[in-house]
Amino acid sequence: MYDLIIIGGGPAAITAGIYAARKKIKVLLLTKNWGGQMAWAPEIDNYTGISNVKGLDLVNRMVAHLKENDLEIKEGVEVKKVSLKKDSSLEVRTGEEVYQSRTLIMATGRTPKKINAAGEEKFLGKGISYCAVCDAPLYADRVVAVIGGGNTGINTALEAAKYAARVYILGYQPKSSADQYLQIKAESNPKITFYHNILTHEFKGDNFVSAVVYEDKNTGEKKELAATGVFIAIGSIPNSSLVKNMVELNEKKEIKIDCQNASSVKNIFAAGDVTDVSHKQIIVATGEGAKAALNAYNYLNQMKGE
Ligand SMILES: Cc1cc2nc3c(=O)[nH]c(=O)nc-3n(C[C@H](O)[C@H](O)[C@H](O)COP(=O)(O)OP(=O)(O)OC[C@H]3O[C@@H](n4cnc5c(N)ncnc54)[C@H](O)[C@@H]3O)c2cc1C
Repeated sequence: MYDLIIIGGGPAAITAGIYAARKKIKVLLLTKNWGGQMAWAPEIDNYTGISNVKGLDLVNRMVAHLKENDLEIKEGVEVKKVSLKKDSSLEVRTGEEVYQSRTLIMATGRTPKKINAAGEEKFLGKGISYCAVCDAPLYADRVVAVIGGGNTGINTALEAAKYAARVYILGYQPKSSADQYLQIKAESNPKITFYHNILTHEFKGDNFVSAVVYEDKNTGEKKELAATGVFIAIGSIPNSSLVKNMVELNEKKEIKIDCQNASSVKNIFAAGDVTDVSHKQIIVATGEGAKAALNAYNYLNQMKGE
C-alpha cells in the first residue's frame, strides 16, 4: 500500500513528487511521458529565475531534480482506471498492474482540442499536427497554416516560422485573444500573416494535406488556402475522465478543488491544469503540485491521529 500515488509527468506532478518524497512517505509516480504540455513550449520566458529556456530543457532539469529524490517512478505507463474502495483506499490500474494507495494526486493536465473539421482525422500525421515543437522542422520551406489565434496559436506560429517559408494564422475571433507581447512578436515576424474572424471548414488533399477550406466570417465567402502543413492550436481539454464519476467537476470538466487542493473526495487531491485553478501556467502548476503534496501529507497525518 502506497501513502500517495501521483498521476502525471508535467510540472505539477514532478513538483508534487519532489515535495512528497522529502516528507519520507511511500510515493509512486505514474506517467505516460515527461513534461506534458511544457515539453511543447518553444521558449519559456516567465519562469522565475530563468529568463529564457526551451520547454524541453526545463523538463529535463525538473526530471533530473525529481530523480534525486527517494520515490518510485514508472514512466511510459498510462493509468486506465481509478477506483475508490469501501475502506476509502484507492486502486489505480495501468494496463497490467494494480496499485493501492491511501491518497492520490491527479496531475494529469490537458490534451489539445480537436477542431472537428472534415479531414482532421484523415490527415493527422499526414500534414496535420497539434505540436509545433515536435513537428515544425518537418515543414521547412513550406507554407503552413496555424488554426487558432490565441496564446497557443501564436506560440505555434512563431515556432513554425523558424522553419517554414510562410505561416498563416487563421483566428476564429475578430481579433487575437493572445497576450499583447506575443501579438507584437507575431506582427513583427515578416513570415507570419494573421487572418481574423475565420471559420475553418475542411482540410483537403490526396495522401497529405494540401489546403485548408475556410470561411471569412466578415463576408460569408468560402476560400481555400494552399498549405502543406497545418497546426491545430485552439486550446485544450482537461484529462479528468479517470475520476469523472468520483469527484465534482466544473462545467469545463476541470476537477474542482479547495484551497488545500482537495477534491470533493477527501483523499483525492489534484494540481495544475486539470483543475479549476485559474491561470494555466508552469509556475502555477509547480506551486499547486507542491501544495497538493503537502496537503496529502497533512491528511495522512490526520488519519494517523497525529
Ligand atoms: C505550446 C504551449 C506553450 C506553452 N508555453 C508556456 C509558457 O511559455 N509559460 C508557461 O508558464 N506556460 C506555458 N504553457 C502552459 C504550461 O505548459 C501548462 O500550464 C503546464 O504544462 C501544466 O502542467 P500540468 O503538470 O498541470 O499538466 P501537463 O503539462 O498537461 O502534464 C500532464 C501530464 O500527465 C500525464 N498524463 C495524463 N493522463 C495520464 C494517464 N492517464 N496516465 C499517466 N499519465 C497521464 C501526461 O502524459 C503529462 O505528462 C504552454 C502550453 C503549451 C501547450
